[in-house]
Amino acid sequence: MKSRSAHPLLILVLVLWLPACEPSATVAPDAEPAAVAAVDRQRLRAAETDTDNWMSYGRTYSEQRYSTLDQINEETVTDLGLAWSFDLKTERGVEATSIVVDGVMYTTSSWSIVHALNARTGNLLWTYDPKVAKDKTRHACCDAVNRGVAVWRGQVFVGVLDGRLVALNAATGAVNWSVATVDPELPYTITGAPRVIDGKVLIGNGGAEYGVRGFIAAYDVNSGQLVWRFYTVPGDPALGFENKAMEMAAATWKGEWWKLGGGGGTVWDAMAYDPELELLYIGVGNGTPWNREIRSPGGGDNLFLSSIVALRPDTGEYVWHYQTTPGESWDYTATQHIILADIEWEGKTRKVLMQAPKNGFFYVIDRVSGELLSANNYIDITWATHVDMDTGRPVEVPGARYEEKEFLVTPSYLGGHNWHPMSYNPDTGLVYIPVLDFPANYAQPEHFLYRPGVSNVGTDGIIGSLPDAQSEREAMRPLMQGRLLAWDPRTQREVWRVEHKGPWNGGTLTTAGNLVFQGTADGNFVIFSADEGKQLWDFPTRTGVVAPAMTYAIDGEQYVSINVGWGGAYALVFGEFVQAESLPNVSRVLTFKLGASGQLPNVDWKPRVVFNPPPPTGDATTIRIGYALYQDICMGCHGLNAVSGLLIPDLRGSAYLHDAAGWNAVVREGALRVNGMAAFGQWLSKEQSETVRSYVIQQAHRGQKLQQ
Ligand code: CA
Repeated sequence: MKSRSAHPLLILVLVLWLPACEPSATVAPDAEPAAVAAVDRQRLRAAETDTDNWMSYGRTYSEQRYSTLDQINEETVTDLGLAWSFDLKTERGVEATSIVVDGVMYTTSSWSIVHALNARTGNLLWTYDPKVAKDKTRHACCDAVNRGVAVWRGQVFVGVLDGRLVALNAATGAVNWSVATVDPELPYTITGAPRVIDGKVLIGNGGAEYGVRGFIAAYDVNSGQLVWRFYTVPGDPALGFENKAMEMAAATWKGEWWKLGGGGGTVWDAMAYDPELELLYIGVGNGTPWNREIRSPGGGDNLFLSSIVALRPDTGEYVWHYQTTPGESWDYTATQHIILADIEWEGKTRKVLMQAPKNGFFYVIDRVSGELLSANNYIDITWATHVDMDTGRPVEVPGARYEEKEFLVTPSYLGGHNWHPMSYNPDTGLVYIPVLDFPANYAQPEHFLYRPGVSNVGTDGIIGSLPDAQSEREAMRPLMQGRLLAWDPRTQREVWRVEHKGPWNGGTLTTAGNLVFQGTADGNFVIFSADEGKQLWDFPTRTGVVAPAMTYAIDGEQYVSINVGWGGAYALVFGEFVQAESLPNVSRVLTFKLGASGQLPNVDWKPRVVFNPPPPTGDATTIRIGYALYQDICMGCHGLNAVSGLLIPDLRGSAYLHDAAGWNAVVREGALRVNGMAAFGQWLSKEQSETVRSYVIQQAHRGQKLQQ
């Protein structure tokens, strides 16, 4: 069932020519006159020394997330307190880094909603809500999240979950222009922050789990016209190649990948830019499906999956690439944060690029040429032993491709490090990585059927995930780890670590005050010393934190701000581990300064599922079929083994378990579409949907027994 019936071209024309059709911004009655986001080429290029402001996603084009502000430092940090908080009024994951320009903060919440705030007081200036259709989440692997905006000469740019790129008037929040950057009929999403380089706004997209062909595109800041588009994987060779790079890439693919959704390789997060070299660096994601044996039978590196690619930002022309995981088969994206720095290397200063992608290796690469300088694993990994420095390729462990039998792979598909930004402190020379450390089972699927628009990972949905047996899952609990890791890129060695309660903690910020800032999954905002990792300060956030902090100054006073609100892929999928922490989603912007003493209200929270299941239905075979369908189609949002991460209702407590007709109307016909539950009648027959109900009823009985 399609949620839109208009022709994509018609939609494109409408959004280009009828901006008045866009939902308009709400301006608060007591709105102050907003300073215009006066950011341009000169200012962005000099951002390193413009310490009062945080003018682009990673603060500077080098994306170091380092600030020379040092009023808040090792000595003064004990005097840090809450200056103001702003309630984002959404209940899904919050991942954004706020932008601050000349005293005005531009930030986003889930559902791509933009707020402009007075950065000194937190007073609302305006809000823009792009009114994303809630059932678009069926194409969002990893929650209805958004990582922030870009600003340029009085405009604010936001990538919307449904694929729109919208330019707003920075003073009022009114829509200047809006374009569909993707075919709205296809399962593309946008969660990443745009960047602006010399009058062009750059945006990628996600959707490789569902079946899309990845690309990054550049739009004119004034007109919204497409300037260039760079695809990351080749299309059907019979239709010709867009450029020489695609022709080169196609030689590394086998089979008919373009029939399985387009190959994947989405550019959903990392970008960095070197203005001197005139090079834009992008991180490219996983293949569709993950399993290379299905995607490209017989092998092949499958360029540019899992690669860092250097492009000319003016034209999108390919310059060089480095592939971190040739022939990737585990969802090992290289979309993770890219940092540019000049570091000492074998007695010389080298211009390098650093990345800790999902695959568990930390890479230091010459960013002029793409030459690999060094690579070492930043967590214990099971799929490879090391990177061969002659070939630049990982040396794989036999069996890791799970061709013959299942293989317990570390890191998992969520990576040793995911989207949560790391940071680099030139004073300590260290990179601060929010690390994930847990395995996942991968296996060849019994059957693989490509289903357009739903998850197509191509690893077995039953044994490829957490086991269904409670005792086996309990045994896995100690393996679910997360930590803050201080890594020396020159020696490729760990310098210090702080173990957290579990995985999926926030991104990091580091400053000249010898500080590292990180929010945690269990609801704390913590500050550590940058050289030794000593905990210096903490503040209870009353909700899990995944976003990174940022810092700015107004009239000589330093502020630190962080968006809080639990969510994202881990929160949705690993419900069982998340529920143990019992934290609600309370989405807020929290801003701190020295001498402030604000407090947050306690949150009344009753996370336990109220079980009231009907008697079991279906025999063992029926339930097993339902289990497999559930893990393939429902699990991404409703959680492994039907245990919800509590961002959305836990199905085991659903009243529809008692009501076969109601279940059918919701699951197949979209009766709760406005709440975000899409119609799945295209992929689930009535009989199949009943097997899923039988499986969830079984899980409800199991859950009830455990609760007693
Ligand atoms: Ca992925």
